[in-house]
Amino acid sequence: MHVFKAAVIGAGTMGGEIAQLIANAGLPVVLKDVEQRFVDQGLDRAREVTKGQLDGLVAKEKLTQDEADARLEEVLGRIEGATDYSGIGDVDFVIEAAPERIEIKQQVFGELDERTPGHAILASNTSSLSITEMAEATLRPDRVVGFHFFYPASVMPLVEVIAGELTSRETITAAINFARAIRKQPIACGEVPGFVVNRILNSAVGEVWRAQEEGGLSIKAIDEGVTAQNVAPMGPFVLADMLGLDTILHVAQHLRESYGERFYEHEGMRRLVEQGKLGAKSGGDGFYKDGEPQVEGDGEPDSERLAELFSLKALVECCLILEEGVASAKDIDLGMMAGAGLDPRRGLFPPLMRADFTGLDVVLERLEGAEAEHGERFAPPRILRRLVAQGRFGQRVGQGFFAYPQPDEGEQPETVQLETRGDVAIAWLMHPPMNSLSPSVIGDLMTVWERVKAADELRAMLICSSIPFVFCAGADIKAFTQLDEDSGSEFVVNAQKMLSEFGDGDVVTIAAVNGLAFGGGCEVAMACDMRIAAESAAFGQPEINLGIIPGFGGTQRLPRLVGPEKALEMNLVGDEITASEAFERGLANQVVPDHELFDSALGWARKLAGQAPLALAAIKRVSNAPHLDKGLADEMAAFAEVFQTEDAREGIGAFLGKRKPRWTGK
Ligand code: NAD
Repeated sequence: MHVFKAAVIGAGTMGGEIAQLIANAGLPVVLKDVEQRFVDQGLDRAREVTKGQLDGLVAKEKLTQDEADARLEEVLGRIEGATDYSGIGDVDFVIEAAPERIEIKQQVFGELDERTPGHAILASNTSSLSITEMAEATLRPDRVVGFHFFYPASVMPLVEVIAGELTSRETITAAINFARAIRKQPIACGEVPGFVVNRILNSAVGEVWRAQEEGGLSIKAIDEGVTAQNVAPMGPFVLADMLGLDTILHVAQHLRESYGERFYEHEGMRRLVEQGKLGAKSGGDGFYKDGEPQVEGDGEPDSERLAELFSLKALVECCLILEEGVASAKDIDLGMMAGAGLDPRRGLFPPLMRADFTGLDVVLERLEGAEAEHGERFAPPRILRRLVAQGRFGQRVGQGFFAYPQPDEGEQPETVQLETRGDVAIAWLMHPPMNSLSPSVIGDLMTVWERVKAADELRAMLICSSIPFVFCAGADIKAFTQLDEDSGSEFVVNAQKMLSEFGDGDVVTIAAVNGLAFGGGCEVAMACDMRIAAESAAFGQPEINLGIIPGFGGTQRLPRLVGPEKALEMNLVGDEITASEAFERGLANQVVPDHELFDSALGWARKLAGQAPLALAAIKRVSNAPHLDKGLADEMAAFAEVFQTEDAREGIGAFLGKRKPRWTGK
């Protein structure tokens, strides 16, 4: 599924900016509304946003004014305003951003189904309505998907890609690829009220709203106090004024109706909305007017406690989302970073990572306390109890919702570090933000690999990422361009040699793929004997998009794993595939929930580390013969060789004696 042209239906608050994003990414887009004046408003907004961005580039001297002027017209020239459907007969992807009423959405989806090509994906930017019900208005429910931007769409990086009951996996993959193509951060989730980010935010902020009304607290003191506690980028009442009280109230009511008591509806907000006081959009009159609070309450809040309740409740909701299978741990935290402005670089950690850093045992105790004080809505979720029961306390022990390195003592390379657990070595990729493979990362991986090979007791090596959101996003192209031709080619030869050894030697190699494995990252994973993937992992060879080709075995190992046709397609198109497709195609050996990845991969490593060493090495060696006759000849020779070993006698003896064998590698 490839997108050459798109359409946006509804040119309001969201539509104009969404069309701008698409045009800015180089694609033609039709922007349709019911009346020309609405279309014009959308076009004006697209111009304003583009101009703002280009002015920024001129100010930073990245563009001249003339270049910026030309770019502005180029981008806007790709947006075709319309009040009818005549321009959408050849679109591939449509985003509906019409008013939030199911009867309007269904009518629009019926019309789109009649007028767009059968292959086109019909997406909705709805915040709360059912994708499945919209799909019912079409003959292509498998190609209807939620595509939820956050306000303002030109600034907020997140898109929630929502699967309706009948949405196909291909549609989800295509929507994720399209979101990336327009430079947004997609997360995948199921169709539940509030999806992921609004649900978590509302659940958490509801505790602050509740405390404000029950305790008659000052909203100004709350906004200042909560911001200072580093749980959110801005205070909840200031934020509501910015986003529009009517929008916030609508979502809050919807979530309370859907989930009940654990969500809260702020009475004061409801009264303000009744009076037409909506915040910035009603001339700055909302919770505040001219900086002064407009709701009663002058009590001094215990900001630390409020911030703690906010964090605890956010965590409860995250766990419920995980338990319901709505989204993965990684997508939940990524969603909160890209959709709620939580930026770890500013000390604002997303909920699951934050809990891992605090200690899940500590958090569980705090939740039990909050439950005793405030009731069931703070009841510790089962998934948290389970992790604590397993001793997965978070960062300080190396495992919680995510896995964290605990490198061995002594000198370590900087970007890849070795951790030893019994007979299993773990090579941690530690090169933020994307674990890109620079020459020094490859050099450090080589150092670790040499250590692993040299240690007789190490029988398996896991390759893991220390960054919860990415396995390895590929080669560090900039660093490579700085190598001269000789050192460049020597480097590639050495790297290729190491990757070949991953598949040939007597150490089992396993990639624990937690997130994106693109380009060089995918190639490192493919060079390993096995790949265990987290549900939200993705694989791809996007080199062609840079006008280059894979250089660490992508054209050779990929066909051996997924078959020549699919490999050729992936290498020629450059799009990513999901973990589940990777599993079906043979690229991943197993797909597991994100938070179980490390344990599962370690389990595989332990199992294989315990196998007969000579037999294991022989099987690896003969398995990749270039053709059948050579392979059979190799196998015959290896069979005869292995059959003569002490391990073979031990294995057969143990089998006949009904006891566990003890391998010596002789
Ligand atoms: P809006 O009211 O600002 O714009 C909707 C536009 O759709 C209007 O210009 C209207 O004239 C037009 N329209 C009405 N019927 C139409 C039809 N049949 N065909 C084409 N256009 C039609 O609304 P908005 O805030 O842009 O919201 C649009 C969608 O995006 C809603 O589903 C909303 O829930 C969702 N959303 C909004 C926000 C937000 O903060 N505003 C954030 C995320 C998602």
